[in-house]
Amino acid sequence: MTGQAADAGKSTASAAEVVIIGAGPVGLFAVFQLGLFDMRCHVVDILDRPGGQCAELYHDKPIYDIPGHPRIVAGDLVARLTQQIAPFAPTYAFGRQAVGLRRRDDGGFGMTLDDGAELSARAVVIAAGAGAFVPRQLSVPGAERFAGRSIHYHAVAPQSVRDSVVVVTGGGDAALGMALDLMPVARKVTLLHRSAGFRAAPALVGQVLAARDAGRLAVVRGEVTGLQGYGDRLSALRVRGEAGEADLACAHLFPCLGRVIEPGTVAGWGVGAKDGAIPASPESFETCQSGVYAIGDAASYPGKLPLILSGFHEAALMTQAVRKRLRPGARPGQSYTSSSTDVQRRLGVG
Ligand SMILES: Cc1cc2nc3c(=O)[nH]c(=O)nc-3n(C[C@H](O)[C@H](O)[C@H](O)COP(=O)(O)OP(=O)(O)OC[C@H]3O[C@@H](n4cnc5c(N)ncnc54)[C@H](O)[C@@H]3O)c2cc1C
Repeated sequence: MTGQAADAGKSTASAAEVVIIGAGPVGLFAVFQLGLFDMRCHVVDILDRPGGQCAELYHDKPIYDIPGHPRIVAGDLVARLTQQIAPFAPTYAFGRQAVGLRRRDDGGFGMTLDDGAELSARAVVIAAGAGAFVPRQLSVPGAERFAGRSIHYHAVAPQSVRDSVVVVTGGGDAALGMALDLMPVARKVTLLHRSAGFRAAPALVGQVLAARDAGRLAVVRGEVTGLQGYGDRLSALRVRGEAGEADLACAHLFPCLGRVIEPGTVAGWGVGAKDGAIPASPESFETCQSGVYAIGDAASYPGKLPLILSGFHEAALMTQAVRKRLRPGARPGQSYTSSSTDVQRRLGVG
């Protein structure tokens, strides 16, 4: 991971002037464009890693229409973008959802995250694609009652599950990784999966099977059909397995069931979002709120193409508009990276 992973806690301060919602390919390239003009960025994404759709939906597929790359695998494109923006030291809040935006009295913005933290920014760039990749919720009656206290859709602080009996459900990378991470702190960890095999990276599968064989991790085949507990505290799961239904002790449940796109995460931010997209000027990519910009799949304007290529172009034009706003005295226009010694010094190549 390039840049610094921001503390996902209640941090309110950020040295960044610009907050970008979305670490998809377009949000990442926006960091580069803004960085060329010395504007630092803080990037928020509900995913635990950069890449947006490229990371979540087609990580291993080749793309054939990125200029200069006859063929590039989506995951490699994301790795190259994060490498390209590293000199500008963006900060990241991964695993965090942006849930509110307010204009402050000083003309800047306060961006509220789902943990209650508020980030300050002088400009906001919405590169939120078609919406936030939120964790798929457990579809078992009463699950909402335990959510947050005993059912967790995100990683939690280790002390909150210390010496507890923990169950992780799912068979992908996230589930296996979560089970392995929780083993050192929990009293007992069970990985519950409805199929016989896993859909995870071979290295993770190897670690899980080794932990099972060493008696450090229980691996059970089955699915959750019911929840038992008091108030918001879970005590056991009802599990349907190969031998029928049985109770499984559980104080903390981590459903890792994949992610779904939650559209409309910016509805109510006063940016005029319509049918999941935000109307933006095709010259500046400013929305109807001055100082708030929309680019990439999140933006709509006549002739919009939902392609990575278009998003890169939008990031470049948005940057000129943000610069005009934040550096009113600066000479307008773009410097060539091939000849500007100032830019090359910032990139660490000059
Ligand atoms: C299967 C598939 C194949 C594709 N192939 C190609 C191709 O060959 N060429 C091409 O050009 N394009 C392709 N695309 C389209 C391309 O992936 C998108 O145009 C591109 O990902 C858009 O980038 P983005 O950064 O705007 O948004 P996204 O990649 O969607 O990233 C947006 C990010 O914002 C996050 N987010 C949203 N709301 C919030 C919030 N409130 N708080 C925190 N985080 C939030 C999301 O979690 C997500 O990670 C393909 C798409 C798919 C699905």
